[in-house]
Amino acid sequence: MSLRLSHLIGGQAVTATRGAWLDVFEPATGQAYAQCPDGDADDVAAAVAAARQAFPAWSALPASDRAAWIERLADALEARLDEFAAAESRDVGKPLALARNLDIPRAVSNLRFFAAAATQFASESHSAPGIVNYTLRQPLGVVGVISPWNLPLYLFTWKFAPALAAGNCVVGKPSEVTPVTAWMLGEVAREIGFPPGVFNIVQGRGAAVGQALVDHPQVKAISFTGSTAVGTRIAESCARSLKKTSLELGGKNPTLVFADAPKAKLLDTVVRSAFLNSGQICLCGSRLLVERGYYGEFRDALVARAKALVVGDPQDPATTTGPVVSKPHFDKVMACIALAKAEGGRVLCGGDAVQPAGRCADGWFIAPTVIEGLGPDCRTNTEEIFGPVVTLQAFDTEDEALALANAVPYGLAASLWTSDLGRAHRLADRIEAGVVWVNTWMNRDLRTPFGGVKQSGLGREGGWEALRFFTEAKNVTIDLG
Ligand code: NAD
Repeated sequence: MSLRLSHLIGGQAVTATRGAWLDVFEPATGQAYAQCPDGDADDVAAAVAAARQAFPAWSALPASDRAAWIERLADALEARLDEFAAAESRDVGKPLALARNLDIPRAVSNLRFFAAAATQFASESHSAPGIVNYTLRQPLGVVGVISPWNLPLYLFTWKFAPALAAGNCVVGKPSEVTPVTAWMLGEVAREIGFPPGVFNIVQGRGAAVGQALVDHPQVKAISFTGSTAVGTRIAESCARSLKKTSLELGGKNPTLVFADAPKAKLLDTVVRSAFLNSGQICLCGSRLLVERGYYGEFRDALVARAKALVVGDPQDPATTTGPVVSKPHFDKVMACIALAKAEGGRVLCGGDAVQPAGRCADGWFIAPTVIEGLGPDCRTNTEEIFGPVVTLQAFDTEDEALALANAVPYGLAASLWTSDLGRAHRLADRIEAGVVWVNTWMNRDLRTPFGGVKQSGLGREGGWEALRFFTEAKNVTIDLG
């Protein structure tokens, strides 16, 4: 195993203080192919110290200079798009084309978007007779960002770019399951001479590195994307020191299909929303709610499409669906399918592991799975699975559709398909979700606030929301005499 990753601390590539390593696996083959530092609280302390040292100069830079550095990082990443896409495909098991066309370009866009935002971020002033109020929006200092494995570089950049743009220094912790592209970005940052200490990366396990970052008294905010269970624990830890938190958590997103849905893009989009990245996107629609009069036709067409997906080697251009990310996750998803059967669900397609021939024979592949016959209260329909598994339920009325959509503890995103404009607006208003798409899915404008309600999170990212999160507002009031 030749590839050994490192932390990025104070502009240096360093290994874990205690010299420990974690294996990094290729999900398509089930084989370890790299090692990442198994960091701990000492490494976090070193990164925070480096970030604190860098903060006065970085926060004092004109916004246009900070923007130029972030742009330079974007340029360097874009110049190596193919290299990063190949690494991300290998690390996550996602089809190469998906990494090449979606994940890495979006990471570049995140950097460019927040570089531009840095130069446009303005604060307010409010005047009254004889009085002027103005608001200073000041960076917090050192902030921590913690990201998950499903869209590793996309979500890592989405978090640290606004933090840097707003004038903070960052300690980032990528997922230990998929650490490679963050490490590569750290190497790129070193190559372009990104100011040392401004952007640090500590690799390792959540319970060690993540928790140490959350608990560090000099870390002023935590921006976290991951599971609801870990997010809740982080919220509890941060509450003790009143640390700012932004939490982007799990989902169990409904896709509502009415009989009057515009049909041209419907099936293509619903299949993508169900199975893209093997269903491992927080925004995937995993509960398909279909108007009864259209249910049979839709179900049969969906099952035919799901069966036509090509499960296999992510490097093969014909592949649409790669493996799930890890052996523990494979076991979890297979246990969810077994539970669905035990709950009385009928598996219409999939339901099994897939063993491709050749180099992927030991990979963690699961066939796209569609299940029907389960009520809204069962665990299969209320708990996040985060794999290539969706359920179908029928409804008769708009009110029933809404009740089903809202019948889960989560509230991240919803996608609704109808030609009735009034219905679209009524439901968009009443669905409990932070994001509602009408006749589309995962159509994102980076300026819009992003985040969930209920168990899907706290706070909003994107656009000015992110820059506001990473700054503290201070109001100044002047009596003009
Ligand atoms: P996870 O919660 O297991 O891990 C996320 C990150 O937190 C990892 O870097 C992990 O090492 C770290 N971590 C674990 N324990 C920690 C602790 N005690 N303190 C601090 N950090 C800790 O999630 P995952 O399995 O990597 O990702 C999948 C989950 O992420 C799913 O639930 C999915 O819905 C969610 N997700 C949400 C969004 C969103 O925008 N809402 C986006 C992507 C993924």
